[in-house]
Order: sequence, then C-alpha cells, then structure tokens
Amino acid sequence: MKRETELIARNWPQRDTSVATTINPPAYRGSTVLFASYAAMVEAQMGRHHGISYGTDRLPTQRQFEEAMRQLEGGAVTRVFPSGIAAIHTALMAFVASGQHMIMVDNAYGPGRRFVHKVLEQRLKVSCTVVPANVGADIENYLRPDTALIFLESPGSNTFEIQDLPAIADIARRRGIVTLLDATWATPLYLRPFELGIDATIHSVTKYISGYSDVLAGTVTVAEGHAERFAEFYKLLEIYTPAEECYLALRGLHSLAVRLRQHERSALEIATWLTSHPLVDRVLHPALPDHPEHHLWRRDFQGSSGLFAFTLRKEYPQDQLALFIDALRLFRLGYSWGGFQSLLTAARPHRLLSGRYQGQTVIRLNIGLEDVDDLRDDLRQGLARLNSA
Ligand SMILES: *Cc1c(COP(=O)(O)O)cnc(C)c1O
Repeated sequence: MKRETELIARNWPQRDTSVATTINPPAYRGSTVLFASYAAMVEAQMGRHHGISYGTDRLPTQRQFEEAMRQLEGGAVTRVFPSGIAAIHTALMAFVASGQHMIMVDNAYGPGRRFVHKVLEQRLKVSCTVVPANVGADIENYLRPDTALIFLESPGSNTFEIQDLPAIADIARRRGIVTLLDATWATPLYLRPFELGIDATIHSVTKYISGYSDVLAGTVTVAEGHAERFAEFYKLLEIYTPAEECYLALRGLHSLAVRLRQHERSALEIATWLTSHPLVDRVLHPALPDHPEHHLWRRDFQGSSGLFAFTLRKEYPQDQLALFIDALRLFRLGYSWGGFQSLLTAARPHRLLSGRYQGQTVIRLNIGLEDVDDLRDDLRQGLARLNSA
C-alpha cells in the first residue's frame, strides 16, 4: 500500500464501542487519569504502570497523531510539541549538553538559530560552529573531538540551499555524532531522511501537515538507537500539546498528499514563469535545473512543495518595492506558510557566513491552492508597477 493510501485508510483504535463508531478519533481532554484500583496506583508510583497515568503522558489523541507521523516517517519514536520551535528547542537540548560542541547550518530557521546563540551558547556553555548552507562532505573540516550534534535544514529557510544529507550522515555516524534535520519544507512525503542515515527529524506541523493556518504544532521523530534517550528527555519536560491541535493535525494528514501535489504543480508553474520575467534575477527553487544543488534534490527528494523565492535584477528602495507588494491582491503578507492561501515575505536573509544573495532582497512565495492562472496574473500586474517605478 502506498503511504498516501495509508494516511487515509488508517483504522483508529475504537476505545468505546458503546458510542458511535466515527471515521475520526475523538479529541480527548483530561488532566486527571483514573486508576482502576489502589494496586494500579501503587504500580504507577513505582514506575511499573505502563498505561497513561496523567494528562502529560499524552492522551490517545496525541498518541494517535504521534503514531501516524512515526509510521509515515519510518522512525522509532515520535513526540508531539505545541509548536515547531518547541520541537527544535527540545531536540537540541536532548542531543547536546554543556561543554559539548555542535554544528548548525547557516540557513536554519531564524528563531532556532537565535535559541542556539542566546540560550545554548550564552547560557548553557554549548559551543556552536555555523557552517555553509550547502555543506556536504566538507563538514569534516568543522568537526571537533567534542562535537555531539549536527543540526541541518534542507532546503534551508528563505534561500533554499540543499545539504548533502547522506554524505554528512555517513561521516557523523562513524564518529557517533547525532544528525538532526528540520525537514518541514519537504514533509515526510517528499523526503525520507531515515533512509539517508539521518538520526532525528523535526517537522513544523504548523505548515503543510496541518495545512489550514490554524494550528501550531511540531514533531520530533528519532531513529532506533537514540529513541530511548529522546523519549526519556521528553518525559522530563512534561510538555503538553492540546488534543484539539493533534486532532486537527491528524485531519490535515488525510489530505496532505493531494494538497501537496497541487502546491507542487502550481509552484513549479509560477517559478518557471518567473525565470523568464525581465525583472527577475534568480528563482530559488530546488526543482528547477539551474538551482545550484538541483542534482542533490533530484537524488534525495521525491517531490517539491509550494514554497520558493526569487530575487530581482535591481535592488529597489523600500517604498518602490512596496508599489509591487502592496498591489498584490491574492498574495497576502504573512510568515507562517504551508496553508491554502498564497503569501509573500520580502527581506534580506540574515546570514553569518558570506553566501549567495548577499545584499539582495529575497522575495519568498508560499503558493497556495488558488487557481494558478490567477496567481500568475496577480504577480504580473504587481511586478508591472516596478517597471514604471
Ligand atoms: C515555521 C518553521 C518552524 C517553526 O514552526 P512553528 O510551529 O511556527 O514554531 C521550524 N522550522 C521551519 C523550517 C519552519 O519553517
């Protein structure tokens, strides 16, 4: 059975057949969990009770979403978080400790980089080396005897560089270094990180997985070998993600495959059209043949999603750029992507190392589920304002 079919055909465990059997599972709410007897409670106090003994043990709704993600990704353990950034924080804290060294790519999600610098480095005495966004086997040059963790994101935020994941995973494995990959852009459908040797993945469920811009959630999935360590650390934090968010995330999973196919097709069409627009300098989309790591995308990924960017031939002052952006009717302005509505952001990417697009404004598009001809027309009429600027 294809993974797309599994997402739809899953059978939810029906706990109580005295109520109606619905296709979707109930959203459980509960802080107190009742024990059947005093003996069972004593077992729990001694750590020998394997059932759920408290709300933060994750009730069935949370567990069903985690299990769906775990199966989809092919990992050993999945845990859900109240946001993607909370998933990042916890995964980093689980795999690197005070006095150790970590490596982070220069195109990692901005708030995650801020956490590494302000919390891990400044407060917790972890040292971090930032490496080029398109790092591969040259990761070797940045390793130290105390390197514990390599934190990757591919394609990376805003600039879409791709890392050579199998080459990095291979080097890290031989040295016992954990590789952690934020794979939000590709979703579990378009990238299989565990098959490439990656140890742990992060997904911002907020994006395509939930799909409607009304949920904040995240997951971490960990391969065999690191699973127990991660599950123990998660339990210490007693993190709780509301059941309603998990219910909506599960619901989103059912339509993920069809939504993504549409996002992919429309984004490719708009990206290809932009490459021949006279005002456009470069289109930053891994599935386009002139993307610098297109060969890696073709080798490692099974598809492309609907988020990409472009740069203009000329740098416009903010008030002139606004003539284009504010003229758009379908592309709205907002950060959190992966939903049905098309969105735009424009900024100069913040990078520590000199990379591509230095000093250029990167215009990022989230291609939604609107008709693609309407989206193209909207961009065309918006860009025309720059011609007269
Ligand atoms: C949005 C995003 C996150 C954070 O997700 P939130 O749920 O918004 O906290 C993490 N990684 C990437 C790549 C993202 O785009």
